Amino acid sequence: MDKKDRIVFVLGAGFSAPAKLPIQDRILQEMIQKPADEFLNYTPEPESTKFLKSFITVGLFLLQNYTTFDCAEYKESFEELALKSKYTKLDASVLSEDAEKNELLILREKIRDCLEKSNIHVSLEDVFTSFDKTYQSREYFHRFSSQYVDEIKESITRLFVYYFSKRCKNHTYIESDYLSFFSYLKNYAPNSAIISTNWDVLTETYLEKQKLCYDLSLNDAYYTKDGTITSKSGKTIKLIKIHGSINWFRCLNCGKINIVNSSECGNYLFDDKSKETCKSCRITKNTDFLLQSQIITPTMMKSLNSQLYTNLWSSAREALQKADHIYFVGYSLPIADFDFRYLLHQSISDKAKIDVILYHDDDPNQTEKSKLKDLLPEKRYRDLFAKNHIDFHYDGFGSFFKDKLLG
Ligand SMILES: [Zn+2]
Repeated sequence: MDKKDRIVFVLGAGFSAPAKLPIQDRILQEMIQKPADEFLNYTPEPESTKFLKSFITVGLFLLQNYTTFDCAEYKESFEELALKSKYTKLDASVLSEDAEKNELLILREKIRDCLEKSNIHVSLEDVFTSFDKTYQSREYFHRFSSQYVDEIKESITRLFVYYFSKRCKNHTYIESDYLSFFSYLKNYAPNSAIISTNWDVLTETYLEKQKLCYDLSLNDAYYTKDGTITSKSGKTIKLIKIHGSINWFRCLNCGKINIVNSSECGNYLFDDKSKETCKSCRITKNTDFLLQSQIITPTMMKSLNSQLYTNLWSSAREALQKADHIYFVGYSLPIADFDFRYLLHQSISDKAKIDVILYHDDDPNQTEKSKLKDLLPEKRYRDLFAKNHIDFHYDGFGSFFKDKLLG
């Protein structure tokens, strides 16, 4: 390989697969599963009151809208609890903190059980699409006011951040597939760009552990972060997270992004002991949400009018335009990614070499049926990049980069 090649890696959901991260449509299953079945190997952290409230808010919303279950009774108990909790602030004898938490735990378990029994199959994408339509049309979503929708949306995003970072935290960061990829990066592409469609913090955590410098391509004016590593060699990897990240939180007061240490972002939003504080404007809020999770879904892109994402997407465009060689790693080029597909098509030069690295399941040779073949990623790549030279690899990215390292 020519070392002067300008390389771009595009990472998709398949890149997070070896870390067994729940992909977005599985997050509800994660929520519904009994914690004991899920996390056999470690003791789950005690769930905070904030976490339980978010769980119940989202659970009630799902039961009411996507099942036949009548949850009026649970809704009432939850509202009653909220009222008691409000009075507790004036008179501590109304409901002790422990008693409140206990009641929340019982209610949470009842709701989880109902969700499990109702066999709910709605995808997070569907729920978010409903929210976005509400914003765009300023209509009421079913019977709910937009303020209530905001609350549910923020709660569901927070839960998502929680489950996601729990998994990231349990990852050992010595997984061989990733080590091969990051060694390749260190040795052959220390100046490359990585465009990630994923929200997890696997990439930055591996980069930090491998002592590789990276730049999130966020303009200084828009974010604040504790401790930044500066490059001694002058070599920096651009890491462009076009759909946001689970450890990015936008302050609703000053608009700046707070970037939180990746190991603590799961508890950050659900910590009962500390108040939500913006690191930039130093504003603190006790009750309402102050920090808004920055997780962007493809449907949200359309309604977003934010300088942050405009900048991120133009950094991605610039990197793609300059690229001689693009590796698509675990990215299936999903139809739903309309805007990103458009960006790829507009920016990638006809002369750029393309490698697509996926898994056996994506290999069109696994099936004889031409209709099935047409549904697999290879067809979408060939259609979108008709003029480019494309090579497909179906042994997973770990073995692909290991082979490249060996020579
Ligand atoms: Zn702020």
